[in-house]
Amino acid sequence: MVEGDPDVKPIVGLEIHVELHTATKMFCRCPNRFGDPPNSNVCPVCLGMPGVLPVMNRKALELGIKVGLALNCSAGGFSKWDRKGYYYPDLPKNYQISQYDLPICRDGWIEVPLDDGAVKKVRIRRAHLEEDAGKNIHDHADHTGVDLNRAGVPLLEIVSEPDINSSHEAGAYARAMQRLVRWLGASQANMQMGHIRFEPNINLHIASAGKTYKTPIVEVKNLNSFKALEAAVAFEIGRQTEEWRADPEGFSLEKLSKQNRGWDDVRMATVFQREKEEAHDYRYFPEPDLAPVEVGETWLESIRSQVGELPLQRRERYIKEYGLAFKDADALTQDGPTGDLLDGAVKAGADPKRSVNLLLGRGAAIANERGCQIAEIGLAVEQLAELAKMLADQEINATAAAKVFDLMIAGRQNPRQIAMKQGLLAVTDAGQIEKWVDQAIADNPSAVQDVRQGGKKQKKAFGFLMGQVMQKSRGAAAARQVQDLLEKKLGGGQQ
Ligand code: ZN
Ligand code: MN
Repeated sequence: MVEGDPDVKPIVGLEIHVELHTATKMFCRCPNRFGDPPNSNVCPVCLGMPGVLPVMNRKALELGIKVGLALNCSAGGFSKWDRKGYYYPDLPKNYQISQYDLPICRDGWIEVPLDDGAVKKVRIRRAHLEEDAGKNIHDHADHTGVDLNRAGVPLLEIVSEPDINSSHEAGAYARAMQRLVRWLGASQANMQMGHIRFEPNINLHIASAGKTYKTPIVEVKNLNSFKALEAAVAFEIGRQTEEWRADPEGFSLEKLSKQNRGWDDVRMATVFQREKEEAHDYRYFPEPDLAPVEVGETWLESIRSQVGELPLQRRERYIKEYGLAFKDADALTQDGPTGDLLDGAVKAGADPKRSVNLLLGRGAAIANERGCQIAEIGLAVEQLAELAKMLADQEINATAAAKVFDLMIAGRQNPRQIAMKQGLLAVTDAGQIEKWVDQAIADNPSAVQDVRQGGKKQKKAFGFLMGQVMQKSRGAAAARQVQDLLEKKLGGGQQ
């Protein structure tokens, strides 16, 4: 079956695990750093030695709440820690410290931009803090290694309501979440480093013969790319439809228990792992070694004040206030700092569109070459503002501005100084421009006549004279000034 059958409604909820961008781990002071030699960032606490005591990372708690507030959740107040018991080699304590019945954030929503320009609202059930597990390394010939550098890294688990109804929506939701946590500085959300992992819960509501059938819920574990997420959801929609067709009464939510399945990237299929655990299988109980957390109003307000403008709000503002096209506004709101550059330049008096042209022209080209965000190429607000103003005032033309742009990124210098040093400044001296204009008029009587007579040849002749002046100035004359003066001398009215 292909996705999109109107009688088959996919019901998808998503759990997203996000590693928070803190200096240290959730309950000890080991570095939270990817890529170090195995088991170099470990201590008795994250190794799960007996008798040690965890201490909460305040920064992780604040980042978690910040994300929750940006997701319109109620956050803060009283929450506590719980032990979630399970046994696995990468979990040395045999339990994970998590939050069960009192998460730090609950009942929010996020607006998800879809490909067709529509916006989908997805409700957030909860977001809670927990610690990551270590990693089993399977690249040895005769044994499996365990790297505990990741054990104890702060995780925020964000759980949506089952409001997602297609594989595309699942992908769009995941992308919106990645953009948001990066925007807030809560996570680097780098897929290759496993900073963000997805676990969709999927079943179908199938309308048939005046009845609604519900298929059993499947949770696909540990997906670490948008592609795998979308493919796994699409695969499950197809698989569950087929299973239901084969046995409409038997393949049902009421009769069968939940399943955990894994994703096989090679076969592009989900694979049965086990019947899904219920909460009671984890033997949750309150963590006796950690005090509950009480985030009062003052603390909560100080976190709220750091949230600021969110990506979609900013995109909307760029369209309304700066008159940008949707595509440009969207490109400038993939991260926070790039838009901050634009806002800073406008605040310093630069024209928004000229600033945008610089950012999305040479700025985007350089960022693309380096594989980074535009804000990371080393451009300062003052440089951007000044160069945009020089363009607006015709002190420099677009070609010269592109040269200055590259030089000012490399040398971190003021664009005016660079343009002067390189001889790229336009000539704006009225006397000098008048000399070139007069000379062009004197040298080209027939073109002058065509302009003065009007009619078909006028436009072309005017363009020719403009070109003559620019040539005499070796491209340095300020074009707007040349045009104004030519129009004046030839009787005005030309376009
Ligand atoms: Zn540690
Ligand atoms: Mn979890």
